[in-house]
Amino acid sequence: MSTTIASEDCLFCKIVAGEIPGDVVLSNGDVVAFRDVNPVAPTHVLVVPRRHAPDAAATVTDDPALAAALVSAAAEVARGEGLTDYRLVLNTGADAGQSVFHTHLHVLGGRTMAWPPG
Ligand code: 5GP
Ligand code: ZN
Repeated sequence: MSTTIASEDCLFCKIVAGEIPGDVVLSNGDVVAFRDVNPVAPTHVLVVPRRHAPDAAATVTDDPALAAALVSAAAEVARGEGLTDYRLVLNTGADAGQSVFHTHLHVLGGRTMAWPPG
């Protein structure tokens, strides 16, 4: 189990801490998963580590097991949503579409996905 290291003024740290409400679908000692406020698919859940890091690569460096826990939790979320097929997305950097700089794994499903992504 990883410890909570929060970063001041981080939106997702505040959701993890319960200071800002989130529609939480899964929570354990490592991660919190909540529905995206602006869903782009019938299922759109964000899985975030409790421990703050700016992106997935930083989470891997800080705590490789936590990165694995993120993917396991995403699979658990997908199962809970009744999904066999789903897409996991880790936007890294503003040009890739990252807007919140606390690691988050998008779980997208419930519709057919196109490739390449936009
Ligand atoms: P990114 O663009 O960084 O990969 O993903 C950030 C995601 O966070 C976006 O899909 C956006 O809709 C979502 N988001 C932004 N603010 C909030 C919020 O206050 N609550 C929730 N649940 N999602 C948020
Ligand atoms: Zn944070």
